[in-house]
Amino acid sequence: MKCVVCGLRDAVVMQRHTGRVLCRDCFIKDVISRVEREIKKFHMFSDNDRLLIAASGGKDSYVLLDIILRLHDPSKIGVVTIVEGIEGYNRLEDVEKVRRLANVNGVDVIVLTLKDYVGYNLTELVSLGFNKDIRVSPCTFCGVLRRKAINEVARDLGFTKVLTAHNLDDEAQTIILNILRGDLFRLVQILPNGPMLSKLFVRKVKPLRKIYEEEVAIYAHLIDYEFQTTDCPYLRYFPSLRAKIREYLYKLEKEKPGALLNLIERIDAILAKHVSRYVNYPELPRCAICGEPTAYGRNYCMACELLTILGVSKPSYNRSSYLRFSPRS
Ligand code: SF4
Ligand code: ZN
Ligand code: ZN
Repeated sequence: MKCVVCGLRDAVVMQRHTGRVLCRDCFIKDVISRVEREIKKFHMFSDNDRLLIAASGGKDSYVLLDIILRLHDPSKIGVVTIVEGIEGYNRLEDVEKVRRLANVNGVDVIVLTLKDYVGYNLTELVSLGFNKDIRVSPCTFCGVLRRKAINEVARDLGFTKVLTAHNLDDEAQTIILNILRGDLFRLVQILPNGPMLSKLFVRKVKPLRKIYEEEVAIYAHLIDYEFQTTDCPYLRYFPSLRAKIREYLYKLEKEKPGALLNLIERIDAILAKHVSRYVNYPELPRCAICGEPTAYGRNYCMACELLTILGVSKPSYNRSSYLRFSPRS
């Protein structure tokens, strides 16, 4: 069967949400142009911005780097990876592929381990919690500390935007999660141009938010990404409500292709009418321990609170203990 766009080459991809069959080149072009459209629609970044890509090393961050390299000056791009330190799982092996792609394009890669950052790796933090019978999932420690570290590294190194590789499926799950919690405040923050509540935050944007996970996987395959064989062993602790929502949304999309894209577009349109309400919100308070922003009404940030609960008496963060791999040096 021939590609419905160019009519010349053989089709290799069935794009479920449009019902089209596409050749390799037209599929790749389609994904890039949709990402570009989303970046422009929400003014995610401009030519002058210095972009820091937060990479986990999986297919999503590899695809994000590949696309951003085609759309932005590589000398204004960096990649950061936080190595959690999880027994039986070597994050650096995954990141190696991203590092190679960054390297051939002259992009710096910054690697920071949790051990260097807070003095404990994730496995040590999880066992501290286990010994104290604290029921906090490893993914909570992981997510909270990674987000904090990435924001601080970006700010210290003068990056003006942080790009994460969340895809359409992730975004739809986050929307449903916040609707179920009745949390309009958090829901509004999914908008790429949502309110910035602290000067200490570097704005985070998600250029792949309208690209299905399946499309990201196909794109990765078409650009010869080697899929990893090991998963994080803590994946089974992944917050259970999100896992259930993910399963439900997967079924919904299978029965009604395009349903999740439609959901995000409608929610975006509704939220756009509410976003102005949050523009004049006061600056977030600062954590009494580390000085970073925390939620309204709180004295400590989540990271300091979690570490204190685990028995770490004076949480401190050594955010400059990263390694920098610079192809230019
Ligand atoms: Fe971190 Fe959980 Fe992902 Fe493992 S599965 S890397 S613990 S968020
Ligand atoms: Zn084609
Ligand atoms: Zn703090």
